[in-house]
Amino acid sequence: MTSPVWHPFTQHALVPEASLVTHGEGAWLNTEKSKLLDAISSWWVITHGHRHPKIVEAIKTQADSLDQVIFAGFTHKPAEDLARALVTIAPQGLARVFYSDSGSTSVEVALKMALGFWKNRGPKNGTELRTRIIALEHAYHGDTVGTMSAGARGVYNAAYAPLLFDVVRLPFPAAECERQTLDQLKAAATNAAALIVEPLILGAGGMLIYSADVLREMAAICRQTGTLLILDEVMTGFGRTGTLFACEQAGIAPDILCLAKGLTGGSLPLAATLCTEEIFAAHYSTDRSRTFFHSSSFTANPIACAAACANLEIWRDEPVKERIATLAGRQEERLARFGGDARFENVRRLGTITALDLKVPDAGYLANVAPELIKFFQARDILLRPLGNTIYVMPPYCVTAAELDLVYDAILEAAPKFG
Ligand code: PMP
Repeated sequence: MTSPVWHPFTQHALVPEASLVTHGEGAWLNTEKSKLLDAISSWWVITHGHRHPKIVEAIKTQADSLDQVIFAGFTHKPAEDLARALVTIAPQGLARVFYSDSGSTSVEVALKMALGFWKNRGPKNGTELRTRIIALEHAYHGDTVGTMSAGARGVYNAAYAPLLFDVVRLPFPAAECERQTLDQLKAAATNAAALIVEPLILGAGGMLIYSADVLREMAAICRQTGTLLILDEVMTGFGRTGTLFACEQAGIAPDILCLAKGLTGGSLPLAATLCTEEIFAAHYSTDRSRTFFHSSSFTANPIACAAACANLEIWRDEPVKERIATLAGRQEERLARFGGDARFENVRRLGTITALDLKVPDAGYLANVAPELIKFFQARDILLRPLGNTIYVMPPYCVTAAELDLVYDAILEAAPKFG
């Protein structure tokens, strides 16, 4: 019997079968048929490696005492401990933590917080209520209706366009074109609710890197105009870009910060949206209509929060920063092999993430190359999932030099076949 499971981002007519995964350990996944090197951290979530013993232990211990509890009117130690730890390590000024369960919901919450903030404050001196969201070209913020609206439009959301709201779209601040982005932001920000950006690197949009200077200037424009700055660190958070949070590299702090994926080391679904005291205060009132109206059944699930606490302990107690620096160095070394290779362009790295664009003959070829590459790599026991012709490597921090070699050998082998 065929499986009743409907997989995400999967055209079942073209990919009739999913590999059955039975086990995960470090940088490896075992399937029924083989072992796969997880070079994309299982959709960018696994940070320290699959099944880090301290996270596994925390999950087991928590499951023994409290599995789940309604989070309205109730709290529990893992959620309290985690929130305290998060505000300590987060960029300055973020004082409140709102939990949800995925990257998309963390962003959806952020957008609602921003709108709620302006609505509850009320428009000042006859100005218009701020409701407009500003976002970047090529952005990806999730697959719920609000996050799709903030994200780039394309084949992935064309069918749902009637549900999406308009945002002000800024051009991507590619090198040499940054002024244009910043000028358009200046013009749009005077009466906008919020600017939302993925700091330093746009993930699903093609691993597009922009400079910390631009991010700093964007933050400055937001400050000058009063527009809230939302940083979507769902992918970049927890070390991927070389620092705990990407925004540290620009020396800035947002008004709202979205975290998910690596928050639990990638072990369980949990998200957190952090905001300033000012945003919380705008919702704080004896008037119930000013409540922040958002919840989901599993808000702050205790087992997921315990896993996240264990993750933060690993960051505190183990040489995670050193591991990240070593991985970043190794990634850079391996990219050197592609420097003069005419089959690739835009060879780039930010922290632990590398990306290279395989030159392809035309748009028709481009549309079909990724699924073929995925199959090619999988046949060589490597889990890579290119975005179009962009091959990127985002491994867990425990990956070894020899394992990285396997990944890059496979990429080199792919070049003559697909380039
Ligand atoms: N924001 C960013 C920057 C992301 O990369 C992603 C997921 N790739 C999301 C939001 C959505 O996260 P999730 O898939 O957990 O909903």
